[in-house]
Amino acid sequence: MISQNPFIPQPVELTEVIDETPTIRTLLVKPAEPLVFKAGQFVQLTLPGVGEAPFTPSSSPLEPEKLAITILKTGTVTNQLHASQPGATLGIRGPFGKGYPLDKITGKEVLVIGGGVGLAPLRALILALLADLKSIKRMSIKYGARCTEELLYRNQYEAWAKHEKVNFDCTIDNPQKGWSGKTGVVTTILKGLDVDKSNCCVFICGPSIMLKFATLTLTEEGFTPEQIYLSMNRRMSCGMGLCGRCNIGPYYLCKDGPDINYALIKDYPDPF
Ligand SMILES: Cc1cc2nc3c(=O)[nH]c(=O)nc-3n(C[C@H](O)[C@H](O)[C@H](O)COP(=O)(O)OP(=O)(O)OC[C@H]3O[C@@H](n4cnc5c(N)ncnc54)[C@H](O)[C@@H]3O)c2cc1C
Repeated sequence: MISQNPFIPQPVELTEVIDETPTIRTLLVKPAEPLVFKAGQFVQLTLPGVGEAPFTPSSSPLEPEKLAITILKTGTVTNQLHASQPGATLGIRGPFGKGYPLDKITGKEVLVIGGGVGLAPLRALILALLADLKSIKRMSIKYGARCTEELLYRNQYEAWAKHEKVNFDCTIDNPQKGWSGKTGVVTTILKGLDVDKSNCCVFICGPSIMLKFATLTLTEEGFTPEQIYLSMNRRMSCGMGLCGRCNIGPYYLCKDGPDINYALIKDYPDPF
């Protein structure tokens, strides 16, 4: 849903706030009418009087009447969004961007790689695929967080992995008391993957440094740039390819992304 003037936010009601980790909260917002979006499309969320910032809904696109927006507290707008209480009125513009290229993954293996709050945009993809598992061969989810407290959606991994076609694997950066799982940054669990590389599509979302090294590791493991899609969560403003804040070469990440094929951008300076 885009309002007639795409620069004017639509009012949405903040109905619930979920504490996910010490630094991440999910806001559930209810638009006046369903906000239809594709997994991977993003919205500009406005806190009146403070400002707006881009976020990719983390909820299923099959539930457009209530959106989950999972937010890492990092600066001016996100600090104030974390302080917002149920009942508050926020604003939304969008959705913007293309969304994940689901048409390209029919019959394929899907490798989903997330770092930190990067699992939030990917959850919309995971939920969309869980609702249509017959369309893909298999889904492998690899996730890394700094520490156990920062593992996002920790209570949902078991439900995702109980599907025969899905496997989930996660790691935390350093050993921690009470943690018997894997340790090391997420790239450490990308080596020797049990996936059919010739028939696999990869989606990565996380901090730029992680995008860079995950892409490097996958390339070393034999994946081609054409198989890799990167979530480019760069600073964006208009959302419509007008302001030119987010372009890489001829590509406007707000319009041609935010998930973009690595083959398209790899030869531009500093694509990450
Ligand atoms: C398409 C898209 C989807 C996004 N989805 C999510 C999401 O689902 N959940 C989420 O938590 N965040 C998401 N982000 C990032 C989010 O938009 C920024 O964290 C937010 O704009 C920061 O606003 P602020 O006013 O709180 O921070 P500022 O006060 O503007 O900045 C605080 C600090 O954060 C850094 N920063 C600001 N914006 C970004 C950015 N885009 N990328 C990296 N560092 C940044 C600044 O350099 C500064 O160090 C997304 C960004 C894009 C472009």
